[in-house]
Amino acid sequence: MKHLICIECPIGCSLTAVKSGEQWEIKGNRCRKGEQFAINELTDPRRSVCSTVKTTYRKVPRLPVRTNGEVPLNAIFAVMEQINAVTLDHPVHIGEVIIENVCNTGINVIATSDLYYLLEEDGQ
Ligand code: SF4
Repeated sequence: MKHLICIECPIGCSLTAVKSGEQWEIKGNRCRKGEQFAINELTDPRRSVCSTVKTTYRKVPRLPVRTNGEVPLNAIFAVMEQINAVTLDHPVHIGEVIIENVCNTGINVIATSDLYYLLEEDGQ
């Protein structure tokens, strides 16, 4: 038996999962989202990753980035290593891809701020 808290909405239902053969039986969920959340957590847990990358610009030394989808939980350290290895040496707009298909997950790492704007605002 496993216990989980559903994080799909602020109610935060307390879920119980019991394996029955190859299937998981989920209890405690007030809606179907909770059942799907628990099954995903138990069989293929994934997370979005938010971080920053280095830049060569003195006044904007780091630019916020995030994955444009969820990556497998066991790939997060490898994803962070790839993010940490980036040094951006050209301006990018918000939403531009910084790392394509990070760690072969099919997910991209994208900019969440506009470096053109930040550089202009800082007078560079
Ligand atoms: S099971 Fe439904 S109601 Fe309960 S926390 Fe998850 S999404 Fe919200």
